Amino acid sequence: MTRVLVVEDDPQLVRALVINLQARHFGVDPAPDGATALRLAAARQPDVVLLDLGLPDMDGVDVIKALRGWGRVPILVLSARQASDEKVAALDAGADDYVTKPFSMDELLARLRAAVRRTEDTPLVPETTLVETEHFRVDLLAKKVVRQGRDVRLTPTEWHLLEILVTSPGRLITQKQLLQEVWGISQSNKTNYLRVYMAQLRRKLETDPSHPRHLITEPGMGYRFEG
Ligand code: CA
Repeated sequence: MTRVLVVEDDPQLVRALVINLQARHFGVDPAPDGATALRLAAARQPDVVLLDLGLPDMDGVDVIKALRGWGRVPILVLSARQASDEKVAALDAGADDYVTKPFSMDELLARLRAAVRRTEDTPLVPETTLVETEHFRVDLLAKKVVRQGRDVRLTPTEWHLLEILVTSPGRLITQKQLLQEVWGISQSNKTNYLRVYMAQLRRKLETDPSHPRHLITEPGMGYRFEG
């Protein structure tokens, strides 16, 4: 059974989450604050954590940092719509994904399953070296991209960016994470680099670069690859 630690201080939302998760055969441990969450995380070893960022006793980002101090349990953040800085801080601290309140239960469950699946099938040596979409194919081993039967030429920077995105399908990668990984810089004011390179990648890979299907922008936050 998949165990979910639900860290949320709104009792109505907790009730709805518990009912829906239990109906789908998840084991649920509710925690109304950060201190209880950390205690239960140690005691119950959850498979996934649902974390509200606005907790009565602690900043949710500090809960993420504490959880990351011990391990790789997937963390799905529940966040208010307007708080995009907060979401970015949570992702940079090690959260895996976020769902914006108010969310539909179906969306939440889909994200939850995806987060659990990603940790389950993340082997040390990746088994999948081929990432295929309807429109292009990425061979991670040969470092080749083929679109409509033809090789696509990518610069090393474009390749690096694409590789990071396609190896975490469905996952939001923040601007800061990409800048750090590809350019080794942490200044978030260099997001224009990202915009330029993402535009180039889309021109080379997307059928309609102005309406991308695979290389998705999350405004103000980062990018996501959808297979
Ligand atoms: Ca709250």
